[in-house]
Amino acid sequence: MYAQVIIDITNEALDRPYTYHIPEGMHVSAGDRVSIPFGNSRIPKNGYVISLSEQSAYDEDKIKDILGVVSNAISVKEQLIQLAVWMSREYGTTLNQCLKTVLPVKKTVRKNLRRIDPMERYREETDEQHILNPEQQIAADAIVSGIRSCFARKKVSPDRTPGSLDLTQPENAGKTQDPPRYLVFGITGSGKTEVYLHAIEETLALKRKVIMLIPEISLTFQTVLRISSRFRGKVAILHSRMSLGERYEQYMKCERGEVDILVGPRSAIFAPFDNLGLIIMDEEHEGAYKSETAPRYETRDVAFQRAKLTDCPVVYGSATPSLDIFTKALHGEIRLLELTHRAKPGSTLAATEIIDLRKELAEGNRSIFSRHLNELMTEALDKKEQIMLFMNRRGYSSFISCRSCGEAVKCPHCDVSLTLHRDGMLRCHYCGYETPRMKLCPSCGSPYLAPFGFGTERLEEYVKQSFPDAGVLRMDADTTRNKGGHERILAAFRAHRADILIGTQMIVKGHDFPDVTLVGMIAADLSLSAPDFKAQERTFQLITQAAGRAGRDREAGHVIIQTYQPEHYAIQLAARQDYRIFYEQEMAFRKLMGYPPVERLMTIQLQCADENLLDAVSELAVKEMSGYCAACNAELIGPLRATVYRVNDIFRKIIYIKHGSHDIIIQLRDQCQELIRQHDRRSQILLNFDLQ
Ligand code: ADP
Ligand code: ZN
Ligand code: ZN
Repeated sequence: MYAQVIIDITNEALDRPYTYHIPEGMHVSAGDRVSIPFGNSRIPKNGYVISLSEQSAYDEDKIKDILGVVSNAISVKEQLIQLAVWMSREYGTTLNQCLKTVLPVKKTVRKNLRRIDPMERYREETDEQHILNPEQQIAADAIVSGIRSCFARKKVSPDRTPGSLDLTQPENAGKTQDPPRYLVFGITGSGKTEVYLHAIEETLALKRKVIMLIPEISLTFQTVLRISSRFRGKVAILHSRMSLGERYEQYMKCERGEVDILVGPRSAIFAPFDNLGLIIMDEEHEGAYKSETAPRYETRDVAFQRAKLTDCPVVYGSATPSLDIFTKALHGEIRLLELTHRAKPGSTLAATEIIDLRKELAEGNRSIFSRHLNELMTEALDKKEQIMLFMNRRGYSSFISCRSCGEAVKCPHCDVSLTLHRDGMLRCHYCGYETPRMKLCPSCGSPYLAPFGFGTERLEEYVKQSFPDAGVLRMDADTTRNKGGHERILAAFRAHRADILIGTQMIVKGHDFPDVTLVGMIAADLSLSAPDFKAQERTFQLITQAAGRAGRDREAGHVIIQTYQPEHYAIQLAARQDYRIFYEQEMAFRKLMGYPPVERLMTIQLQCADENLLDAVSELAVKEMSGYCAACNAELIGPLRATVYRVNDIFRKIIYIKHGSHDIIIQLRDQCQELIRQHDRRSQILLNFDLQ
């Protein structure tokens, strides 16, 4: 017997399977981690077996023996290997890197530390079960019938097909019909979670497993609480703030079949379940579902790919679906299930008002709060109701600049200004550089340095001054750095131990606080001015989600949106919670500009510390690419400087390729990579691909 092995080395050139002989009596299966001799080195290397074969095309005496199976390592499920193969092709990342992404990191929890079972804090509360309303029932019925039809056509478990792995066409591996996909499109509080719970119940009754994805930042006890109290003892969770050891333990519970459900952020899609029956992806539109590091995968696509490999339904859910998913739903590729009103009797959507900050200023109000917001805050505090204030920038001020020469104080390693924090430190939000606030301008020596703009810290200070009797909590990346920081703040606010919660976007996601009646968006324009074609979409989502926080219970809620661009359609339509009109307007814009999802966009980022090499190579690559692109009618843009050109003393250039066809864009990406590598013989340029 022979084994095809991927060597565990980060080197594109070696990223292909090598054939090894399996010695008599050794047990090796696909997915095992093995020790093998490689090249002239006397030190053995490790590798992953991706397939087995009876025969080999190579000369028998040139083939080396596998030295042994690395004990204690997890053997990867074949399905996950197939997923890694697909990801490697789709996202232009080495197979080795993709295998590492789909595999858990083995780590043992240090025994001498006092440990809390991560499920412990989710134990006390119980969840009330509801009788589904007619819309929920229709949605649940549709999903249940999908679960059953997949179950019926799955005769044997297809997760194990030893030794046969078609590397060339992983997506066609013996599959004819795509599994069904659903979009539960329901306003905030319409009872989507209740529908998921119903679908999970059905899946468990058929003895199948469930992956439930929730975006990282909203991964708080609320969703987990409901699922774990409904399915006691059957749930494992992954959590970005868990230690590697804790994660590994949760992962092994899935592997050993001790649990039926894995709840977690995007990496939970790689749960080692044999017998998967359902994938749920809540808040499908969330940015946190996209991996920031290579492979820069889009979880919704990986989820569909995994569903195809295992043949199970995928349920996407959102109040503000991504344009991509909603387009597919309108085209009938995904079944659209709509929930149009709030599930809780008596609960209605909050009244939303847009406040024009230009007018406030013109009428002499220079404070952070408009007069109306100020009034409503006073009123809510009098009535002992809770308030959430949302401000999409952390820190004290956005930058400090010199009144004499006009220069902003910048990071010495990056092309961005430093953010002032309340502890008197200036910090770079890109590379983490920090320095105490200086007295004199670094450019001209003038003493007139002043902070401009404001962030959550300054907002907090301001609120405490204006409302000295109110209890204030702040939640942003700075206050949640510690383990359990999120939960502590949210639990305190939920228990009404504070009146006002201030925070960045992490407070607007999916949290259910019954006593919140007022939500204030202090500067809705911050996200609108982001240099990204998705800025409008993100702004619309943020406002809609934030608005959904008010009046979750019986009390009618108020939402105040402060902005300098009150007439902007993203703000207007979000205030009206009119997703469909927004979708049409935004799609018209994307069509006009040829942006995704109308066309596919490949972003190729080149990073290098040597600016001259970067210039030369990117110019050459684009020159040579232009022929290829012209031949297939693809648009080629660049090389351009990245929005922040220098980060951590590394320069970054961008090449864009646009085309309507996914396959052509992948082909062009590969050609471009090849050209760049030809000119960059010593691999000094780091390449990053992003497919949208
Ligand atoms: P979503 O996930 O869409 O935001 P949830 O599932 O969290 O909505 O439901 C919002 C609130 O309505 C929750 O407090 C939930 O307990 C309640 N709820 C859900 N379904 C029903 C129902 N059929 N009848 C009454 N209350 C419901
Ligand atoms: Zn100056
Ligand atoms: Zn920096």
